[in-house]
Amino acid sequence: MSTYLIKELENNRFQIANFEDSAAPEGVYELLYTKTRDYMSCNCRGFRMQKDKSEHKHCKMARFWMSQGKPEGVALWEDGGEYKMNRFVEA
Ligand SMILES: [Zn+2]
Repeated sequence: MSTYLIKELENNRFQIANFEDSAAPEGVYELLYTKTRDYMSCNCRGFRMQKDKSEHKHCKMARFWMSQGKPEGVALWEDGGEYKMNRFVEA
């Protein structure tokens, strides 16, 4: 199962790290959110290939995280179409 960590690098620019079974991330990507258009982009290869950008998994994960108030130090994952999160670092 993929687990994600997200942090905000600067206003509306985010970094998302994807972890599988090892301690090192499988991938680290950058997301840009354009508030005026409510549009989010990702710099991973999958995003460029994806036709429906609004269905991109990294963007959907980041939108979920934003909807939760951008909490720091949480692990995020998807389980059967539902987004979950767990705080493992006390802020
Ligand atoms: Zn992506």
